[in-house]
Amino acid sequence: MSGPLRLTFVQSASRVDQLPESPAEVAFVGRSNVGKSSLVNALANRKQLARVSNTPGRTQLINMFEVDSARPDTATMVDLPGYGFAKAAKNITRDWPEMIEGYLLDRENLSMVFVLVDGVIGPTKLDEQMLDWLRYNGVPHTVVATKFDKVKSSKRATRKKELAAGCQLDQGDIVWVSASKGDGIDALRSLVRTWVG
Ligand code: GDP
Repeated sequence: MSGPLRLTFVQSASRVDQLPESPAEVAFVGRSNVGKSSLVNALANRKQLARVSNTPGRTQLINMFEVDSARPDTATMVDLPGYGFAKAAKNITRDWPEMIEGYLLDRENLSMVFVLVDGVIGPTKLDEQMLDWLRYNGVPHTVVATKFDKVKSSKRATRKKELAAGCQLDQGDIVWVSASKGDGIDALRSLVRTWVG
């Protein structure tokens, strides 16, 4: 299978325990404003599947999508709320880390967590904490660096090196994407298919 991921919206949930079971799942997580909604839309080649927000931190829901895969039952992709936005409602910022941590540790059939890091400014302290936590807990994860088009061509080699070092990874471990221009989108689609297939 190639081409856009066929993503069908299943439901939004405010708590992970409201999500239906899934036979195979990948999740996307990242700081608010990292470009997660834009990336979900780019993967599906749709404009409005995930809401691109002008007000960072407003979309605090967990969004679940069915994703086409080689398997006979339905695989899923979960878009987790963005972390680290201070202006979000108090209860949400207080609740989410525990809730998300519970999901990342206990979700059955979660095969890969894609951690989005802003290609221009990342990794931030919070991204580093998230990566440390995932590593410490042995949760399988892949770093996706966003907004590749925003990095000047003359700076790209250095930025790739810096971002990888900041994430304590080799450059080749990181998937660089641009939701706006399409760089890396096919590669990421293939990875998603691999992990839910
Ligand atoms: P989210 O909060 O992580 O869901 O981020 P959004 O998808 O809402 O994007 C946050 C901002 O970054 C918006 O203004 C987007 O237009 C912008 N953005 C997202 N992806 C890209 C990209 O690949 N290139 C550029 N130049 N801007 C992007």
